[in-house]
Amino acid sequence: MKTFLIRSVLSLFAAVALPIAAQTPAVNPPTFVKGDITIQYNTRTTTPIAHGTKDVYTINVNVCNSALFHGTVTDLPQLIEGWVSKGVTQNRVLTYDLQADLMNPKNPTQVRNVGRLFGTVPQLVPVAQQIEALTFQPIYTVYLQYPEQIRLPHAMLGFDRCFTQWIFDKGQIAGHQGLIAAVISAEGLHQKLDHEQLAKKVVQELREQLGIMEKPLWHQILAEKRATFSCEPNLSRPTHITPLTNVLLAGDYTAGEYPATLEGAVMSGIRCAEKINNSQISTSTPLHLNPAVLP
Ligand SMILES: Cc1cc2nc3c(=O)[nH]c(=O)nc-3n(C[C@H](O)[C@H](O)[C@H](O)COP(=O)(O)OP(=O)(O)OC[C@H]3O[C@@H](n4cnc5c(N)ncnc54)[C@H](O)[C@@H]3O)c2cc1C
Repeated sequence: MKTFLIRSVLSLFAAVALPIAAQTPAVNPPTFVKGDITIQYNTRTTTPIAHGTKDVYTINVNVCNSALFHGTVTDLPQLIEGWVSKGVTQNRVLTYDLQADLMNPKNPTQVRNVGRLFGTVPQLVPVAQQIEALTFQPIYTVYLQYPEQIRLPHAMLGFDRCFTQWIFDKGQIAGHQGLIAAVISAEGLHQKLDHEQLAKKVVQELREQLGIMEKPLWHQILAEKRATFSCEPNLSRPTHITPLTNVLLAGDYTAGEYPATLEGAVMSGIRCAEKINNSQISTSTPLHLNPAVLP
């Protein structure tokens, strides 16, 4: 009986003591980032820079004895050469191969590799080159804020033989009264004008085509230089599948029936979704690359 009582008292003490201990503020572990990055500036020690000469960054960083990052980054510079006309004789190539390890701060001998960030997946190189070969077309949007009573005969209109191609009445579309957006797609003469001149040109066309005599209160031009990929005859576009079964490409630029359009982007997404549905690819499975195939 006595033994039982003593045990009970001890248990009670333990039950009370544990929450008290848990509430004791933990001493914060020291925070630090330490390590080194060694840089071999090979491109700075040779003149002129020979083809193939690269800078090599060797990285070894420890974050609070919790995460370790180590590996290399190499930078092959772009070379522009020539006596009469200069041109690119070597493209810049940045490659990286960095390991990420997690470390148990209480026992630094316990280290587990959790990931690898690398610049080149050999199987995807041809696809990456195909994407890099795409060229782009601009789209300019000229916003003109007219007095609120200005309204187009339709929410959207097309102009023929003008700089302006399409105009949108944002009042009718989105309730922003008097705001007209003029859209000019692809390369053209409009690119020779500065923004001020282009805004004046569009205002003139609206006057000539629709009789809008008022002056806009303000204007703003958004010039997106790489608005869409350039959809040319016989253009080689990547398919949505790649040599890696669990890497799929979705986007308007993938092979399909449409040029760079919302429809093309949606169709591409549907193709990828169908592929995932009809195959063993699991959306919950993280991308896993067999280390044996990596460089
Ligand atoms: C000004 C303009 C007007 C257009 N007008 C029309 C039109 O009238 N009709 C029409 O059909 N199409 C039009 N288009 C084209 C249409 O917008 C595109 O075809 C469509 O949006 C492409 O969809 P997407 O999903 O392939 O790519 P995006 O819409 O470009 O989406 C790609 C997304 O990926 C993100 N992203 C990129 N890199 C990274 C990264 N490294 N990490 C994380 N995120 C990243 C981007 O921020 C972006 O949100 C127009 C385009 C522009 C620019």
